[in-house]
Amino acid sequence: MIPIRSRRALLLFCSLAIPILSTGQTEGLRVGVAKADITPARPCMLGGYASRTNLSTGVHDPLSARATVFEHDGRRLALVSVDILGFYNETAEPLRNAIVDACGLQPAQLMLAAIHTHAAPIPVLAAGKFHPNNVDYTKTLKDRLVKVTKDAIDGLRPARIGIGVGASPVGVNRRERATDKNGQPLIRLGRNPPGITDHDVQVLQVRERDTDQIAATLFAYATHGTSLGGKNLVVSGDVLGLAEQFVEKYLGNGIVGPAFAGASGDIDPWFRVLPEIKTADNWIPEPVLLGTFLGEEAIHTSEGIRDFSPNGPVASLLKTIQLPAKADPQNPGQTNSPPLPFAITAARVGDVALVGLGGEVFNEIGRAIKDLSPFPRTIIITHCNGAAGYLVPARAYPEGGYEVKTTHFSPEASDAVIKEVASLLRQLKNE
Ligand SMILES: [Zn+2]
Repeated sequence: MIPIRSRRALLLFCSLAIPILSTGQTEGLRVGVAKADITPARPCMLGGYASRTNLSTGVHDPLSARATVFEHDGRRLALVSVDILGFYNETAEPLRNAIVDACGLQPAQLMLAAIHTHAAPIPVLAAGKFHPNNVDYTKTLKDRLVKVTKDAIDGLRPARIGIGVGASPVGVNRRERATDKNGQPLIRLGRNPPGITDHDVQVLQVRERDTDQIAATLFAYATHGTSLGGKNLVVSGDVLGLAEQFVEKYLGNGIVGPAFAGASGDIDPWFRVLPEIKTADNWIPEPVLLGTFLGEEAIHTSEGIRDFSPNGPVASLLKTIQLPAKADPQNPGQTNSPPLPFAITAARVGDVALVGLGGEVFNEIGRAIKDLSPFPRTIIITHCNGAAGYLVPARAYPEGGYEVKTTHFSPEASDAVIKEVASLLRQLKNE
């Protein structure tokens, strides 16, 4: 069992971890970190499986929002990791606007990213479509996201950052090759170990310059938060959330460990879609095992980082591009479906690039971006600043499968995104 910290203790934990500093101008990079509890107080509809019709029945482990704000030469970047599915039901803009307005940020200075756990409340602000508890939850979430970002800004202090890359086998390509009852090949959701899977655990460590203490260990890894399936009705951060909790518990000292979902559109946890968390007789259930395994690697990688830099610049660009829509399957010859928006955020903190994608992209798209990036390290963050659904490479369309069936975009869309990201990264490189 993962011990669950009480909310009261958590607040104390946060206020101890993030003392407010004087705001005097300091040379070099400044970083502030903060954490807030976002565990639902009441039962909610959990997101990620349309088949689920009942409210949540309990909480296995807490959900949190974790903000890291970087500042250099008067320019800021707020990186906010949220333990929910994603910003569906048109919640990205209202939540982003609330943070941007309250914190005096430019729209491009906020990367609001979800870890894609399928065991957290469905976010929704409009009444009527889901349970009223979900609307109340999302309103509270909005207030907490504003507060956690403000707290991180208030905690800005001189810092250095270092980056490392580890590897973990926790995620695996999920497009399993099978045959239908007529012997025809098909792709189903399962486990496809030979399929493309980027195992990188990208870790960004923040150290306070004055004390050399670690303030935050951020990590990005490509996996869906689907170790638990649609039959599970208990709130959990799933693999990435459990990894965050492990990192924070292991490191102690108020260190914050935000996770980010990498290019995980076709990547699931090795053990997937389990009906429940089995915790009887001190047994370690699979989601906890996988989260611990991933968190261990984030710590291992973090401990190996030797080079730290107090330098900027901090810069970011946000562009919403219009992508070609997929033809209507009922009317395949139709070519006039209106294009659909896709949000791309590109940022740099010193020599580290961060690419935020407003949807869930196939693993190979993330790899292509890493390969073309002019930066020595490029962290891919999906479910960021938007929720446009799956982005599938053109070569996968003829294979079919769940993601191909449900994407809103045509086969040309992924190349358009990669091209735009390349252009934004080149602009940032010249900062
Ligand atoms: Zn997904």
